[in-house]
Amino acid sequence: MKSKNRISVIMTAMLLLVFLPYNMAQDKLPKVVILATGGTIAGAGESSTGSAYTSGQVKIDHMIDAVPNIRKLADLRGEQLSNVGSQDMSIKIWIKLANRINELLAGDVDGIVITHGTDTQEETAFFLNLIVKSDKPVVLTGSMRPSTALSADGPLNMYNAVAVAANPDSKGRGVMIVMNDEILSAHAAKKMITTPVQTFQSPQKGLLGTAIFGQVTFFHYPFGLHTTKSEFSVDGVKKLPRVDIVYGCADMSPDLIPMLVKAGAKGIVIAGVGDGNMTEATLKAAKKATSKGIVVVRASRVPIGTVLLHGEVNDAEYGTVSSMDLNPQKARVLLMLALLKDRSREELQDLFLNY
Ligand code: ASP
Repeated sequence: MKSKNRISVIMTAMLLLVFLPYNMAQDKLPKVVILATGGTIAGAGESSTGSAYTSGQVKIDHMIDAVPNIRKLADLRGEQLSNVGSQDMSIKIWIKLANRINELLAGDVDGIVITHGTDTQEETAFFLNLIVKSDKPVVLTGSMRPSTALSADGPLNMYNAVAVAANPDSKGRGVMIVMNDEILSAHAAKKMITTPVQTFQSPQKGLLGTAIFGQVTFFHYPFGLHTTKSEFSVDGVKKLPRVDIVYGCADMSPDLIPMLVKAGAKGIVIAGVGDGNMTEATLKAAKKATSKGIVVVRASRVPIGTVLLHGEVNDAEYGTVSSMDLNPQKARVLLMLALLKDRSREELQDLFLNY
């Protein structure tokens, strides 16, 4: 062999020795796709200590590159589905997200992470919990501080979310939220505080587990039917029936109810006071709406607890449905999906008892 040829054979062998183990290790890692939608986790501001910033500025590839060692957890790639603050999250994006997740999980992808603003993250998580048709892990994460902030919480949240999505023990636990070292179920997670990093909490039902520097520990399975056991689907669906939320207060006026019916609402969720209560006048307006076939769900503006069936309000008499454990925003998600089909008041109530 000529010396030039010998050198090129030796160089090829050396390159193979360097890159083969890397590729083989990559093959063994679980495949995780990060679907990016925007939020503060992708937000940027002028100052690292100022409170002003804009959500949804940084692209997913840059976000992945900013997290040290994240590629050691999974064979990872990102897709940019949208780049909005989650105050602008829409049903259109939900449907796009759900269809993409179902497509990826039906293939060889082992888990999904969704980066998302925190304002409406619990609603997206709950929607996906009802629509994803797989028991493979789907994990939402976000941050309270933008990427440019001092002690930004996004990178570690994303690292932990990927660790959960890549963990075989995460299967069958429905859609989850991973933030601030905690794993919460889509059913139970609530945004409880406006700006601190411990924003998502799960009072009453507790945490599903913890994810600390990538170490995942589970304690529980979530409450309620979800994913593979859910009867809901958005196959071929482009829009959901309109459902609005009316906030209860002392001396509440009934006026909004007929106005919303006139505007085209098919359902109204009342964030009632206490145990899903409202003024006598609002109850009368609700009864009038239910007699016309509009679904009225009684939820509560109180952050924790169950709205009792036939508590102070006799639901059968007013034609109303109790949201049970669901807060008003999640009750709205369930009702929009439920209204894709004709259902009696009793059937609707059963949904609120089971999901
Ligand atoms: N407004 C932001 C959003 O929901 C807040 C956040 O991400 O924490 O996109």
